[in-house]
Amino acid sequence: MYKPALKIAGLTSGYGDIRVLRGVDLELKPGTIVALIGANGAGKTTLLRTISGLVKADSGFSELYGESIHGLAPHRVVQAGFVQSPEGKQLFADMTILENLMVGAHSKRAYERRNETLEEVYELFPILAERRYQRASTLSGGQQQMVAVGRALMALPKVLALDEPSLGLAPIMVDRLFESIAKIRERNLSILIIEQNVFQVLEMADYGYVLENGQISLSGTGAELLGNSHLRATYLGL
Ligand code: ATP
Repeated sequence: MYKPALKIAGLTSGYGDIRVLRGVDLELKPGTIVALIGANGAGKTTLLRTISGLVKADSGFSELYGESIHGLAPHRVVQAGFVQSPEGKQLFADMTILENLMVGAHSKRAYERRNETLEEVYELFPILAERRYQRASTLSGGQQQMVAVGRALMALPKVLALDEPSLGLAPIMVDRLFESIAKIRERNLSILIIEQNVFQVLEMADYGYVLENGQISLSGTGAELLGNSHLRATYLGL
């Protein structure tokens, strides 16, 4: 029987009395890239944090391949296979690249497979292999972002969530990063990606959702969304 990689329904959450998410429904098919678009403050990061168990959901549910991850502690959500690479990378600047990558492999299952996974990460980002013993602080912004993605992969995700991975990168580095993300999909992983580079991400994505005021206002294939007049006017300035 078909099971979505990630299924979210009726998800509501917020901070104190403020409701940020007001009934979010979203689904990722296995092996697809799904883009989450929305203005600043729409609640995109809050959605990832709620799925991750960092923000408590008031109602609704989240499932990974049919298994509930709703209400689990954050480390259990990671163990179940939903792994987030946070906005702003959050690397340990004084640790080497190798040490930063290993931080991702702390669960028993990930630790046991760490050497194989590390080879896969180095294959995806050869520059990280070359520089494995250098401190993270010596890398360019684009390379640091590769470490952040690599660290998330070290946790053996079933669904990888990326929060604005292209933030602050030069255009050429954004292109390279997106090429690598497309390669990750070939490994049959599912990817949920938040991006301000709306045009580029929708060209790559299999499907996309637009979050406005804490609700999904629009969804469709990347091509459908790129052809949508509301999306073009609001997010592409066309
Ligand atoms: P951005 O593109 O700016 O990251 P976003 O769509 O990811 O935007 P969120 O970061 O999820 O938006 O924020 C949604 C709303 O929740 C905003 O109004 C924000 O001010 C508020 N918010 C975010 N974090 C907190 C917090 N820790 N405490 C209280 N309010 C918060």
